Amino acid sequence: MNCPICGSQAELAFSARGFPISDCSICRHRFVDFPVDENFIREVYSDAYFTGGGAGYADYLADAEILRERGRYYARLASRYVTNKKLLDVGAAAGFVLQGFVDEGWQGSGIEINKTMARYAREKLNLTVFTGSFENFQGKGEFSLISMIQVVAHFYDLKAAFQNAHSLLSKNGVLLIETWNFRSITARIFGRKWHEYSPPSVLHWFSPESLTGVLSKFGFVKIAQGRPKKVISGRHARSLLHYLLGKRFFPVLKLIPDRIRIIYPAEDLFWALYRKK
Ligand SMILES: [Zn+2]
Repeated sequence: MNCPICGSQAELAFSARGFPISDCSICRHRFVDFPVDENFIREVYSDAYFTGGGAGYADYLADAEILRERGRYYARLASRYVTNKKLLDVGAAAGFVLQGFVDEGWQGSGIEINKTMARYAREKLNLTVFTGSFENFQGKGEFSLISMIQVVAHFYDLKAAFQNAHSLLSKNGVLLIETWNFRSITARIFGRKWHEYSPPSVLHWFSPESLTGVLSKFGFVKIAQGRPKKVISGRHARSLLHYLLGKRFFPVLKLIPDRIRIIYPAEDLFWALYRKK
């Protein structure tokens, strides 16, 4: 496959879980060298992703309060850069992050590919969450903020997604992205065993620098950057560790309580804000 960003030839870097991972020879973008489409992604984000553990969530709904707090954190952060509080949350899942924005006075809607999660957001939280992929989202524009929290690594068509974000934002609108940094110290230490090398749910890898380079091609300029404090539940940590370490550690992992909050150092996670030019 050629680079999904610039179309240049790519070279195989290594394989992870049976999928080839390639680097673009020109722009250095790293991606899964395997064609995926909307149907493929819908399968990856079936209900099992949110409830079955593994690379996804042991129980996404149980992490509601943590996700809602994260929404509030980003709502306060983004408020400093916008003139009105009108949000589109991409990859909204069950709507908890969006609910955090609403708590902070934002008017928001979301888009989510998993229909069970989107329905939960509509029926239980009374939020406007559309079902579908963002690449094909036909919504009307004029959002002052589009948030992509842990989403950009999962787009099956990055170009369509960033073009769509640009056209849906109002003049001077802001794009908020939180994603993993494959050039971080943590990623370098773990090498191929880094937790984010988990295709086919993860399809692209970025660093703050590479993401800024990619977005400049789509008419965005970076205005702020930082690192979030990541809080995860004991249940989620146990599921991830079980997945990474295998069954034989289960007796030890069983000792991690469900409801405990683990503050994750997040050296390999970052957020950045981009202004539409
Ligand atoms: Zn490229």
